[in-house]
Amino acid sequence: MAIIEVTNLSKSYGELDVLKQMSFQVEKNDVVAVIGPSGSGKSTMLRSLVHLEQINGGTIRVAGEVLVQDGSYSKPNEIKRIMSKMGMVFQHFNLFPHLTVRENLELAPKIVKGESTAEVRKRCLELLDKVGLSSRASEYPAKLSGGQKQRVAIARALMMNPDILLFDEPTSALDPELTGEVLQVMKRLAEEHMTMIVVTHEMGFAREVANRVMFMDKGEIVEAGPPEQLFTNPQFDRTKAFLNLGL
Ligand code: ADP
Ligand code: MG
Repeated sequence: MAIIEVTNLSKSYGELDVLKQMSFQVEKNDVVAVIGPSGSGKSTMLRSLVHLEQINGGTIRVAGEVLVQDGSYSKPNEIKRIMSKMGMVFQHFNLFPHLTVRENLELAPKIVKGESTAEVRKRCLELLDKVGLSSRASEYPAKLSGGQKQRVAIARALMMNPDILLFDEPTSALDPELTGEVLQVMKRLAEEHMTMIVVTHEMGFAREVANRVMFMDKGEIVEAGPPEQLFTNPQFDRTKAFLNLGL
């Protein structure tokens, strides 16, 4: 089943066409790495999926449900339900600085889903354990390293039991020595068959962990395919140039 189905998505800021009739699907258990130059529309694409941007045209379905069809959005309560199927992890973590790690994780499930404190606490402890941060539950984010913050952000996104996780350059703000611990957590999620879209510059990760790579340039998907094909035998000059393979 397609978890994400995008058809002819277009998005512009004024005169600037940022996404030009993009179409793609993400199947259950896919790990899709999205690569491409700065300004090619990768963040705008992810932000459109989670309704942080309003698109100008096209259709987005999430796990079969319509978020927007031919440019018309579903009703607010439907949008809210669809949003809870997706978790997003940002480059700059976006943790709530005035809440502890545990409070960061527990907030949304309690407020959005109205889950019981006991249920939420149990899952919180399990997920902190999964990202190796059980001992930091009572800390405030400012006390954590960048890598730890990002692992908290991943655990927080998982608290809603999403059908898919979206990552926007999750390691780009980190010192090089801290990227490994975050990529390791993401790799483990992939091994557990979490469906993911990962915008990344980490070509090693894309090659090793993704089952599909999508190369974007100037608001279009130029080329997509299995990593071994896209990295070793790209079909288009723009892809070759980006991968620095010579023309
Ligand atoms: P990427 O994530 O691939 O670097 P973005 O999606 O951030 O690309 O940006 C794509 C294009 O849209 C860029 O030209 C950028 O300047 C422009 N853009 C992004 N956000 C806005 C905005 N809020 N207003 C106007 N232009 C924007
Ligand atoms: Mg970006």
